[in-house]
Amino acid sequence: MNPPNIIDRLTDALGVSGVLTGERLQLRQTHDWSDASAAPPRALLLPADTAQVAAALRICHEFGCPVAVQGGLTGLAGGANPMEGEIALSLARLDTIEDLDSVAGTVLVQAGVTLEKLQQSCAEQGWAFPLDLGARGSCQLGGNAATNAGGSRVLRYGMMRNLILGLEVVMPDGTVLTMLDRVIKNNAGFDLKQLFIGSEGTLGVITRLSLALAPQQSEQCTVLCGVPSFDAALHLLRHAKVSLLGLSAFEVMWQGYFEASLQAKRSKSPLSDRHPVYVLVESVADARSGASQSMEAFLEQAIEAGLVVDAVVAQTGAQHEELWGIREGVSELLSLVRPCATFDVSVAITRMNELVERLQVELSAAHPDQQHLFFGHLGDGNLHLISGPYANHADLEHAENLVYRCIGAFEGSISAEHGIGVVKRDFLHHSRSPAEISLMRRLKAMLDPQGILNPGRVFAADK
Ligand SMILES: Cc1cc2nc3c(=O)[nH]c(=O)nc-3n(C[C@H](O)[C@H](O)[C@H](O)COP(=O)(O)OP(=O)(O)OC[C@H]3O[C@@H](n4cnc5c(N)ncnc54)[C@H](O)[C@@H]3O)c2cc1C
Repeated sequence: MNPPNIIDRLTDALGVSGVLTGERLQLRQTHDWSDASAAPPRALLLPADTAQVAAALRICHEFGCPVAVQGGLTGLAGGANPMEGEIALSLARLDTIEDLDSVAGTVLVQAGVTLEKLQQSCAEQGWAFPLDLGARGSCQLGGNAATNAGGSRVLRYGMMRNLILGLEVVMPDGTVLTMLDRVIKNNAGFDLKQLFIGSEGTLGVITRLSLALAPQQSEQCTVLCGVPSFDAALHLLRHAKVSLLGLSAFEVMWQGYFEASLQAKRSKSPLSDRHPVYVLVESVADARSGASQSMEAFLEQAIEAGLVVDAVVAQTGAQHEELWGIREGVSELLSLVRPCATFDVSVAITRMNELVERLQVELSAAHPDQQHLFFGHLGDGNLHLISGPYANHADLEHAENLVYRCIGAFEGSISAEHGIGVVKRDFLHHSRSPAEISLMRRLKAMLDPQGILNPGRVFAADK
């Protein structure tokens, strides 16, 4: 009799519903939002709990079979995409909100809970989970932790890392690390959970999270401003930081992005004239705190100082959605400019305009037929760029090299929030020194000696 193969062993451990192959596998999406290549996985594992994740990894470890870890598959770096010969492991069935402590303002969740499900559940209990991003309906909290997601409210609440109190992680050999603190203060030795946050599934599989909540804010003010220059936008940011109650987002859109986004949505501009730069300012605060008066005063002073030329204030929830829709209209826009290169970089905010001007000049000279659209979270120094469409792959690669070289020269980061995955792997040296990359490699080799977890993501797999 032949010894059981890996699929038989996995089926014994997870049950038939936990191991999809053949036709049942073909019905499932197994690649993320990036254009990175993906191979069909040998099987898709759907463990039901931490014990099954551990059992699955123990078996893959024993067989030396590489595993692609998958959350909600909204990633933009190709990290969750299976490579040839890999088994995909999805956290989708770990989708329970286990315990919300409404006195302490903390919550314990399984990793497959979507961001939106947690946001809604917290709101019902008078709390908020303040991380927010366009992919909220599908991205999972485990994926948010694995990518250290940012989003539109980083200015106020920080990145995912700042909201994590504890993690449960399954190591590549199946060992379970339970580090589910529910308190902020714990200086008992190394804070090991930090290693796994932002490690893009290369060091361990996150199965549960303990998260800090914020008080729910009942009043939200959103204003779209037409701004005469980027310099004025910088002064407006300073003004907002100093004087605006509950500042939660400060988003910038250059004219090209703003107009292309409206065109993609077939919408009209809410402002009557065209402006070189547009800024979306949002504040959230308690209704009794006078947030809307604070926003009015902020705007009045900004207009008087010539920092804002025209503005529209959202009066209803629908108008709030409409204004944010322009900023978050990336998916509609991508359908118009694909195949394209998308960038998510960061640089000191005082140098952002210099960077944009240089990239605009160099990209337009090298690729005059393409659109180069700039926008981002100005408050965090995070710049996004969509450049395309590129019919020719060599041109696209040329644009990527041009941008990342420039980011290196500006001492910025080639990934502000989306991670490295496979799509930025070859450019990591523009943002990290050889000594840093060498330490990352040594950590990976120590925690995953067989190299089975997301091999070849972040940096090339060791031969
Ligand atoms: C429309 C849109 C808007 C977006 N806006 C933002 C934004 O504003 N800010 C931002 O930061 N990102 C943004 N993203 C990117 C994406 O949503 C985030 O990176 C998100 O955190 C990914 O979560 P996910 O569950 O979809 O992970 P996946 O795409 O499934 O995986 C992403 C990476 O994390 C790993 N991973 C996933 N789950 C786990 C786990 N449980 N344990 C270990 N590793 C795991 C995967 O292997 C992969 O390397 C956006 C994406 C889209 C499509």
